[in-house]
Amino acid sequence: MALGAGCALALSPCAFGADDLADQAGRTARKWLADLPQGYSARYDGQRRLLYLSALDENHLRETMQLLAAYTDAQRAYLLKSPLTWNVTILLPTAADYRRFRPGESVNGFYRNEDRTLISLDRGRVLVHEFTHALHDADASAAGQIHPVWICEGLATLFDSAHIGQEGLELRTCDRLLTLQRAIRLGTTIPLDKLVSMGQERFLREADLCYAESRYLLLYLHESGVLAKWYEAYKDGYSEDSTGKRALEKTLGKRLFQVEDDWKKWVAAQKLPWGELSRGQARLGAELQDDPQGAKVVSLIRGGSAERAGRIRAGDVIREFNGHAVRNAAELVNAIRAAGAKQTVTIRLVRNGQALSIDQPLGSPADD
Ligand SMILES: [Zn+2]
Repeated sequence: MALGAGCALALSPCAFGADDLADQAGRTARKWLADLPQGYSARYDGQRRLLYLSALDENHLRETMQLLAAYTDAQRAYLLKSPLTWNVTILLPTAADYRRFRPGESVNGFYRNEDRTLISLDRGRVLVHEFTHALHDADASAAGQIHPVWICEGLATLFDSAHIGQEGLELRTCDRLLTLQRAIRLGTTIPLDKLVSMGQERFLREADLCYAESRYLLLYLHESGVLAKWYEAYKDGYSEDSTGKRALEKTLGKRLFQVEDDWKKWVAAQKLPWGELSRGQARLGAELQDDPQGAKVVSLIRGGSAERAGRIRAGDVIREFNGHAVRNAAELVNAIRAAGAKQTVTIRLVRNGQALSIDQPLGSPADD
C-alpha cells in the first residue's frame, strides 16, 4: 500500500493521519484498496478533504487532482463557500472495474450522498458535474438544508462546462442551449413556478428540458451579476420558501412571470460559442442552427476542423451523420459529442439543392 507515500502534489499537504479526518481517510483508503484489484493508489488532498483512489497513471492523477483542487478553490471564492467538513472519496477506476459500480449503462460517473463517494470514468465534464453535487451537498448540509432538484442539477450543469480562468470561474453557453431555445420557439417550456417546485421523478421524466431550463436560469442570474446574491437570499429565506421562487423575485425585484419573460428573451438571444462542445469532446468547428431539413452550418470557426478539412461550407444543411438522420442542430451536436474526438465521420448534406456525402474528420478542443 502506498498511503501518503511520495506525494508529488505541490498544491496541498496530503498526509494520512495528520488529524481526525485524515485518519479516517487513511482507514477508508485501506478498506477500498483491500477490495480493489492491484494497481490502485490512494492520495489525500488534506487541505480540501478529498480522498482519491485511482487506477490512473501518475500524470493523469495529478492533472485530475489539480483540476478538482482549482475548481474547489474557485467555488469557495464564488458560490459554494462552505469547506468540506467530511471527506469526499473520489474513485477513478479502469473501464473494466467501473462496470462493477455503475448504476446504469449510459452513466459515466455518479456521486452517492450516502457515503459521499464519487465514482467516475470520465475526467472532464461528468466528473466536474458530479463533483459539484458533492460540494453543493456539503454547502446545503452546512446550512441544514435539502435543496430541490432544479437547484442541485442547475448548479451541476451550470458549472460542468466552466473554465477556470484568472478571474475565477468563467461560465458560458453549452449545447443544452439548443434544447431550450427550441422549446421556447415551440412554446413547450415548463413554466418556472412549476420547475422550481418539481420533485425528482417528474424532473427526470423531462430531463433534457428540465436540466436546460435550470442551467440557463442560473446562468441568467450569473450573467446578471446576482447569482451569489440569489443563492444567499435563498439560503437565508429557506424556512419560508425552499423552492427558490421568492429569492428569485427578491433578487431580481420582479414577479416570477416577469422574470420568466425577460429570461426567455435573454435565452433566445444567446449563441453557442462556435458550436462549443465541452472539454475533451469532439468538435466540428462550425456554428449551427436549426433548419427544416436538418442542421444548417451558419459559419465555420477559423482554424477549426471543418475549415481545415475544407469540405463543409457555410450554408450547407447537414441531414445525416454517420448513417443517422439529423433533424435539428441539437441532434447533430449530440451526435458529434457521442462520436468522440479524432474520428472521421460520414456526413450527408444538401448544398445548393444538391445532395452530397463527405468524410469529415472531427477535431478536439486541443486543436483550438
Ligand atoms: Zn447531476
